[in-house]
Amino acid sequence: MGVVDMKQELAKAGFRGEVDDSLETRDFYSHDASMFELRPKVVVRPLDTQDVETLVRYVSARKSKDKTLSLTARSAGTDMSGGAINTSIIVDFMAHFNHIGKITHTSMQTQPGVYYRDFDKTSREHGLLLPPYPASRDLAAVGGMVNNNAGGEKSIEFGKTEQFVNELKFVFADGVERTVKPLNRKELDKKMAQKDFEGEVYRKMFKLCEDYYDLIKEAKPHVTKNSTGYNIWDVWDRETGVFNLANAIVGGQGTLGMVTNIEFRMVPARSDDGILVIFMRDINKLGDVIQTVVATKPSRFESFDDQTLLLALRFFPSFLKLLGWKKFIHLMFSLIPDALQMVRGIPKLVLMVSYKGNSEEEVRAKIHALHMQLRKHKARYEINGFEEAPTLGQSEKFWIMRRQSFNLLRSKVKDKHTAPFIDDFVVSPEHLSVFLPKLRKIIRKYKLFATIAGHMGDGNFHVIPLMKLEDPKDRAKILPAMREVNNLVLKYHGSLSGEHNDGLVRGPWLKAMYGNEVVDIFKEVKDIFDPQNIFNPHKKTDASWDYSFNHIRDHF
Ligand SMILES: Cc1cc2nc3c(=O)[nH]c(=O)nc-3n(C[C@H](O)[C@H](O)[C@H](O)COP(=O)(O)OP(=O)(O)OC[C@H]3O[C@@H](n4cnc5c(N)ncnc54)[C@H](O)[C@@H]3O)c2cc1C
Repeated sequence: MGVVDMKQELAKAGFRGEVDDSLETRDFYSHDASMFELRPKVVVRPLDTQDVETLVRYVSARKSKDKTLSLTARSAGTDMSGGAINTSIIVDFMAHFNHIGKITHTSMQTQPGVYYRDFDKTSREHGLLLPPYPASRDLAAVGGMVNNNAGGEKSIEFGKTEQFVNELKFVFADGVERTVKPLNRKELDKKMAQKDFEGEVYRKMFKLCEDYYDLIKEAKPHVTKNSTGYNIWDVWDRETGVFNLANAIVGGQGTLGMVTNIEFRMVPARSDDGILVIFMRDINKLGDVIQTVVATKPSRFESFDDQTLLLALRFFPSFLKLLGWKKFIHLMFSLIPDALQMVRGIPKLVLMVSYKGNSEEEVRAKIHALHMQLRKHKARYEINGFEEAPTLGQSEKFWIMRRQSFNLLRSKVKDKHTAPFIDDFVVSPEHLSVFLPKLRKIIRKYKLFATIAGHMGDGNFHVIPLMKLEDPKDRAKILPAMREVNNLVLKYHGSLSGEHNDGLVRGPWLKAMYGNEVVDIFKEVKDIFDPQNIFNPHKKTDASWDYSFNHIRDHF
């Protein structure tokens, strides 16, 4: 079907939002922050829920005739796994689903297309915080946070987005929006008795959860954070008698339906901007340091490596572009003394530890106490040095470096481009001192110029190689390097994605991580929610490496 026909048909079906098929728009939406490219036929901007329902019914009615038709939801498009791109219809939630709703002292309602930065500004005006924000907090929207089950620097204390979703408004595959929230047994029975599509989804999902109860519970990865597969282990709990379909939808990357509204659980906002910075010389001794730090219950425990540091020093102009003059000059002045210190022996890793406290003095005291506790490692030359940075003014440069490193890489370093394909694995912190040197060996073996940054306390690392993706030689490295790293992660019982999700890049690895039986259960979940495969095809359980590989970007 031509796009003109689609425009006319959509209008006939009652769709009132914009339908945009200009080359410029299709080019822009053919990328997210991943290394892939999929060009959509058309980008639509629904005005409201009724428009989203119309779209779903429209595609559902035509799918049997045109198998290529599909709907891929998109919020801010910062997905690193290729989750927000596809070849058919992109449903852009940023244009009209950008309103914040009711705010209480413990919750906030919002539409998915609200930028986290705007949501955060409003929430702080009410003394509230949504803690699982990603490092892309200035770029991402809350719809993407929910559908990727995002996490970030505060996840070590608060957990991920899944822990903050009270309820969702969700357009199911029959084109009807309904509320999805935790149900008790009586409410569940009532739902299952319904004769409509929602009743069928509840019946089938409950049966699936009951039939494979032990297998499903055992499949839950033994790491503090996970965004791979569908979170079905938290859907049905026999002990509490709570059934919550929202847990399968959160982190589903829009493969099960469309999220149109979110009610978040909120916590009181407070500041914990001060940090102890630890410049780590010997990562083989990281295990001891991590144990000491984690035992003190930090509110954040982040890291970035020597390559990130060198890159930041080398590409000051890019920092300038990202930050603007004022922040840039501040950063320059504060970094220069540290830069000189680095030259004496560049640390392999920079660790950042923060604590919560009721006053600046309390935070200051905790930071100093950890410094004293770790002094012995400096005496043994395992640590280069420390910096106590108990206020936001003193710690900001490190947060900027940590949060902006990937973004800095994205803004073209010479002729190379970011290639996130081993960008989000999780390995329990107790294995890190053995795991990290092995990881660095693989990175050296494939001559990948890669930065490593991450959430140290969760053992969640973002390794972002810079590659010439258009060069067949560089492309040929991707699969073998990914295989070696993923196998290493799985050997230490880790997860292939802590927060960035599966998309095109990790979908093909689900069997390696979970085994056939569990992946069959995931496929059943997809089939129950989306029997015609209209939502975001080629992602998660529907992904294949051949398809993904053939859609790696080859021009920039
Ligand atoms: C510099 C940088 C740093 C990052 N750091 C982190 C990090 O620390 N932690 C982290 O978790 N992620 C991180 N990411 C990845 C990404 O930014 C986050 O996961 C973010 O939450 C995605 O939000 P978004 O609005 O851009 O979503 P999008 O990219 O628009 O979408 C993400 C996924 O959700 C689906 N989706 C979006 N809206 C809807 C909807 N309304 N209904 C159904 N499905 C929907 C999309 O189809 C897609 O599969 C980073 C990315 C960048 C570029």
